[in-house]
Amino acid sequence: MSGDAILVTGGAGYIGSHACKVLAQAGYVPVTFDNVSTGWEQAVKFGPFVRGDLLDRAALEGAFAEHRPVAVLHFGALSQVGESVASPGLYWRNNVVGSLNLVEAMTAAGCRNIVFSSTCATYGDQDGVVLTEDSRQMPLNAYAASKRAVEDILRDFENSKGLNAVVFRYFNVAGADPEAEIGEWHQPETHLIPVLIEAATGKRDALTIFGDDYSTPDGTCVRDYVHVMDLVAAHLQGLDWLLQRKGSRVFNLGTGQGFSVKEVISEFEAVTGRPVPFVYGPRRAGDAALLVSDCRRAKEELGWSADRSILKQMIEDAWRWYRTGGYRAE
Ligand code: UDP
Repeated sequence: MSGDAILVTGGAGYIGSHACKVLAQAGYVPVTFDNVSTGWEQAVKFGPFVRGDLLDRAALEGAFAEHRPVAVLHFGALSQVGESVASPGLYWRNNVVGSLNLVEAMTAAGCRNIVFSSTCATYGDQDGVVLTEDSRQMPLNAYAASKRAVEDILRDFENSKGLNAVVFRYFNVAGADPEAEIGEWHQPETHLIPVLIEAATGKRDALTIFGDDYSTPDGTCVRDYVHVMDLVAAHLQGLDWLLQRKGSRVFNLGTGQGFSVKEVISEFEAVTGRPVPFVYGPRRAGDAALLVSDCRRAKEELGWSADRSILKQMIEDAWRWYRTGGYRAE
């Protein structure tokens, strides 16, 4: 309902900040709960800000008591595959223990609706199969394993505490707010499109392509890119789904179309006219060769459409945002 508060963990981050913008436009009050470890206070523009850590149970309880949210959108997590392979404990503690704290605090406060950001990485490598929500989950890295573990926690809390969860398994999120008010800004950048922008603009010498010997058409990894604005629109639809009924459901969010790393580079060069210097490097530990979604369920059951998720559009929007200069540490 208009005026209802929604707690947004990770609301200072890339996807969470875009969610706050559309929540506010829809009449909700997005309450950001974020420790700003990878996000930016400057990205919190659309509602109240609670600076807090998911590992701090008292801070969570305080946020529920003060704002009385009707639902939680849970974006707050560490999300880098490479880092998770190097530091698995960090990922299990932050993503799994943090989510457990959140779920316990919310059910204790009587809040029983959560939209959770999971990942296609929970499917692992499945030999070119297009992935449905019923595909087996075989995580290849601690990031994906931590997200799958949270899905398990949500299922157990549904059974015992009546928690309702919409779980979105994101494919590769890209692009930015077309108004360039907010966007993707990590330091250091690790995701493909911002990294190739850095290479094209001379902020780094070159993009390293992680492996060119995969069993894909050009040997580089294939991913299914979805525009962040389409992704957050699905969250509003997921929220409506939760607020209108009891129960839980998993949805893939992608487009069903895959692009290789080299295809993304070529498209960027075509869109911007700027060459992307690149070198080939070894495979990145934990990477699957190909991750492409079957996302019919979200379309059929939520009425979702991914109209902005065209590679050219995602690159144009990311590029426009990048040229604003992004966020600066305060
Ligand atoms: N990638 C790459 N070089 C980079 C960053 C990413 O070759 O500097 C590749 C990576 O191996 C993967 C794809 O680009 O195949 C997308 O990676 P990203 O980190 O953006 O997202 P992820 O797939 O890990 O969620």
